[in-house]
Amino acid sequence: MKKLRDQVVVTGGAGFIGSHLCRKLLDQGKSVICIDNYFTGSRENILPLLENPFFETLRHDVCMQLYVEADAIYNLACPASPIHYQTDPVQTTKTSVHGAINMLGLAKRLGVKIFQASTSEVYGDPEIHPQTEEYWGNVNPIGPRSCYDEGKRCAETLFFDYHRQHKLRIKVGRIFNTYGPNMHPNDGRVVSNFIVQALEGRPLTIYGDGTQTRSFCYVDDLVEAITRLMDTDDSVTGPINLGNDGEFTMLELAEKVIALSGSSSKIEFRPLPQDDPMQRRPDLTKARDTLGWQPKVKLDDGLKETIAYFKKLLHS
Ligand code: NAD
Ligand code: UDP
Repeated sequence: MKKLRDQVVVTGGAGFIGSHLCRKLLDQGKSVICIDNYFTGSRENILPLLENPFFETLRHDVCMQLYVEADAIYNLACPASPIHYQTDPVQTTKTSVHGAINMLGLAKRLGVKIFQASTSEVYGDPEIHPQTEEYWGNVNPIGPRSCYDEGKRCAETLFFDYHRQHKLRIKVGRIFNTYGPNMHPNDGRVVSNFIVQALEGRPLTIYGDGTQTRSFCYVDDLVEAITRLMDTDDSVTGPINLGNDGEFTMLELAEKVIALSGSSSKIEFRPLPQDDPMQRRPDLTKARDTLGWQPKVKLDDGLKETIAYFKKLLHS
């Protein structure tokens, strides 16, 4: 029987990016099954979606097999912040690898396309700048970040082997640092840390000397790119970089956050964590050409939205 609307699975749907993606897919008229074990995600993130009759939640760990029916799968389940993915590194690798195997198995049984939330971390501490998709990366296989980096690299391998071996339709997006509302205040990533510190009048903690760079993408731009990638024809598999190619040092970011939040916080320097990449900026040529997309939200504007979100959250 022909269904009235497409049903999509979003794993990690209660997380930061996942919750925005669920909302966008509902807005597009799709029916959404949000799969999450709430390790780093929260009910609060999806609270506004719960009243929608086409939104369904399932508490489930992607390391276990999943039996649902769907027309497409977005696989985002995995802690993304270094402090969280390093809390239980074995579980992080399992989530990436077993999670990928289970979701690919589901996609194979259903014959549906599947998106993988890969990461700029597959490039490690890159020697090529900006990073193109052809670059194979510079990743330490045995360091504290390896559970995440190598887990995500192995997930990419699995996606491409399922594609070659089983003709599965895959869409691999390599996401660069993304920020916005619904980040957890104790998430530990730099944007949320700096904003919460600035709003609470505490010193902003810069790791190292603050000259390392990152490129920050506002979450609305990212979910637009993810849904566009999913809608491309079957010949498009990725990997494809998704992010914003503006590049800032952590010192510049700290100064912006202090100015935009009207804070009197000072800056404090802390040791640089092991294997912390020194530079990162996506080459977005493929994303622009293939998706007809480019990031629109400037860092200052995205930060203002995110500061407003945290202000409300901290005062509630
Ligand atoms: P997040 O931690 O907010 O979201 C991850 C979600 O996955 C959470 O809701 C968490 O509870 C859930 N989860 C974790 N392990 C699970 C498991 N075993 N079973 C089911 N659910 C599980 O992180 P995010 O920033 O929203 O990241 C989403 C995805 O995007 C991740 O796969 C991450 O690796 C990728 N990514 C994010 C960024 C970024 O800057 N935010 C950058 C690159 C890649
Ligand atoms: N960072 C920082 N202060 C913080 C948190 C992070 O200076 O309070 C730095 C961190 O060392 C890294 C950059 O900010 O160089 C981005 O860190 P994040 O954890 O957000 O993302 P990732 O390292 O995974 O890109």
